[in-house]
Amino acid sequence: MEKEYKNVYVFAEQRNGVIQNVAYELLGKANDLASELGQKVVAVLLGDGIADKAQDLIEMGADDVVVIDRPELKDYLTEQYTQAMSQLIDHCAPRIVLFGATTIGRDLAPRLACRVKSGLVADCTKLTIEPDKDGNLDFFSTRPAFGGNLMATIVCPTSRPQMSTVRPGVMQKRTREVGKKGNIQRFEPTFDASKFKVRLIETQMNDNKVADISNAKILISGGRGVHDKEGFQKLQALADVMGGMVSSSRAMVDAGVMDHAYQVGQTGKTVRPNLYMACGISGAIQHLAGMEESHYIIAINKDKYAPIFSVADLGIVGDLHKIVPMLTERIKKEMEK
Ligand SMILES: Cc1cc2nc3c(=O)[nH]c(=O)nc-3n(C[C@H](O)[C@H](O)[C@H](O)COP(=O)(O)OP(=O)(O)OC[C@H]3O[C@@H](n4cnc5c(N)ncnc54)[C@H](O)[C@@H]3O)c2cc1C
Repeated sequence: MEKEYKNVYVFAEQRNGVIQNVAYELLGKANDLASELGQKVVAVLLGDGIADKAQDLIEMGADDVVVIDRPELKDYLTEQYTQAMSQLIDHCAPRIVLFGATTIGRDLAPRLACRVKSGLVADCTKLTIEPDKDGNLDFFSTRPAFGGNLMATIVCPTSRPQMSTVRPGVMQKRTREVGKKGNIQRFEPTFDASKFKVRLIETQMNDNKVADISNAKILISGGRGVHDKEGFQKLQALADVMGGMVSSSRAMVDAGVMDHAYQVGQTGKTVRPNLYMACGISGAIQHLAGMEESHYIIAINKDKYAPIFSVADLGIVGDLHKIVPMLTERIKKEMEK
């Protein structure tokens, strides 16, 4: 008898027992998809000694949580996680499985897709349930293609589950429902240790601490028009008086002026701050992909035809090297009042 594939599963990525933000964001989106299909949202939590995190996932949007709590899953290792997840997929037959496009998700999802003989759409920016050509509801994943110059909507018509990875910051998490009830089940995979070819010998944390721009409420972002490190100091001064952070376009990362951790866009981070101030950024489609969902966008550019103005709520045409310091002084004065 053919399996009935149902429910929207979310790989609830945790690191050192901390559920990653992207898992909450995916739970938010999974709720929209599941309600369109009239199905449930199931979070899958893998690790060692992590079962107590299941309630957190229910409060953040899961109807059910499947916990695979085993010493083999203490640290992320591709084969161990693939074995656990592929057995779970065989057993539970999910309709859709979502992963964060993190280093772990980008490693696990393709390996798993291959193991369960299904397809995977990577780095999606939009997920929808819509009627297919025969009028049946199907799962559509949209992602940038051809260097971000067009958006491709992809459907995996025959294989199940349908799988996608989504970058952190793209979807929105739901408000926590404290005390929400849900089903928590354990799943016990049978590991084939003869296939464990990689051992984790040591973990070294990167102590070069870079603050995460995706959590900033205010971003003062600089592009090629900022020119150099001195230019970015002007942006930093403005960010300091406003309690924000500085970020960058790729042009300034490629020029070696800014670290990649601060890059906004298709190959950088996706951000959604309350205020995004784009200074000397033209507004290439690959940059817009990472910031156009910001709540309020101010653009400062000396070219009044710069495409950034098409997404800006407020545009200032002029030289940022004059405007930014003036703005900083003015805000400082206002704050002192
Ligand atoms: C596959 C792919 C992925 C990419 N990923 C990303 C990505 O993640 N993020 C990203 O940002 N880009 C990305 N890019 C690059 C992108 O296409 C653009 O080249 C880049 O965003 C341009 O950066 P910019 O706006 O800073 O520079 P420019 O396009 O050179 O624009 C500089 C702007 O500064 C203005 N300006 C100059 N001087 C001043 C001044 N004194 N005052 C005010 N305005 C001034 C100019 O009028 C101009 O509009 C990607 C490209 C590809 C092909």
